[in-house]
Amino acid sequence: MDEVRETLTLTPQNYYDPSTDWEYMSFSRFKQFQTCEAETLAELNGQWKPTSDETALLVGNYLHSYFESPESHTKFMETHPQILAKTGKNKGKPKAQFKTADSMIEALTADQVFNELYQGTKETIVTGKFGGMLWKGKIDCLNLADKYFVDLKTTRDLHQGYYNEVDHLREDFVSYRQYDLQMAIYRELIQQTFGVDCQPYIVAVTKQTPPDKAILEIPDEQLKAALDDAQKRLPHIQQAMNGEIKPNRCECCDYCRDTKRLAKPISIRMLLK
Ligand SMILES: [Zn+2]
Repeated sequence: MDEVRETLTLTPQNYYDPSTDWEYMSFSRFKQFQTCEAETLAELNGQWKPTSDETALLVGNYLHSYFESPESHTKFMETHPQILAKTGKNKGKPKAQFKTADSMIEALTADQVFNELYQGTKETIVTGKFGGMLWKGKIDCLNLADKYFVDLKTTRDLHQGYYNEVDHLREDFVSYRQYDLQMAIYRELIQQTFGVDCQPYIVAVTKQTPPDKAILEIPDEQLKAALDDAQKRLPHIQQAMNGEIKPNRCECCDYCRDTKRLAKPISIRMLLK
C-alpha cells in the first residue's frame, strides 16, 4: 500500500517558516539554490545563517504591506520599530530609506491607471506541482475575474542594464533578477490552484527622486524559456535536498569561503567567471 503523506497546508502565518521550504519550493529559494546549493542546504538544515541586507528587505516589505491593506501596514509598523529614527531631526519619523519608500507609494497611489489595475485579492497563497516538486507562491494582487495578476517590484532605475556573467550579455533588471521565471511559475500555480490562466504584469517603481514607474509585460516566449530552463535545473536540486548527491559548491559565497579547505592548485584560467 502506498504511504499516504499529509501535505502541509500553507497559511499567512506559516508561509515564510523555513520548515515549509522542505515541502514547497519557492521562487526565492530556487534562485538561492541556483547561486549555491551548498549554502542553501546548510541554511535549510539550520547550520548556516546568511547575512542579508535587512534594510533593503524592510523597505520592500514596507511598500508591500501598504498596498496589501491599511491593517497590514499598521501591523508592519508596530512590529518593526527600527523603521523610525531614534535620534536626530527625524526622531519619531521614518528613517530616510523609508521616506523614499513613501514617495514610491505616493507615485503609485496618485496614478489613476495603477489604481484601476491594482484591483483584486492581495497576498494570495497559491500552490502547485512543477518539475516534480511542490511549489508555493504569494501573489501581490490577483484578479481572477479579469484574468491577470500584478507583482510589485522596486528597482534602482528602469533602464539600467546588468551584466549576466554566465551568458555574457547585458540584461534588463527583470531578466537579470529572473522575475520572468517568477511570473511564469506564478501563472502556473494560479492555473493549478484556481483553473484560470492569468496574464502576468509587473508594476515597477524606482528608488529615484522622483520615482519612475511602469507596467511591464514579459514576452510569452521568454516566460516559456524561463520555465524550461528551471525544469532542467530542478532534478539536481531535488537530489541534493534528498541527500542523494552532494550539493554543488559555488566556492565564492560566504558559506563556501568559510568552509573552504585547500586542495590541489587551480589554474589561473579558472579564476574569472
Ligand atoms: Zn557557495
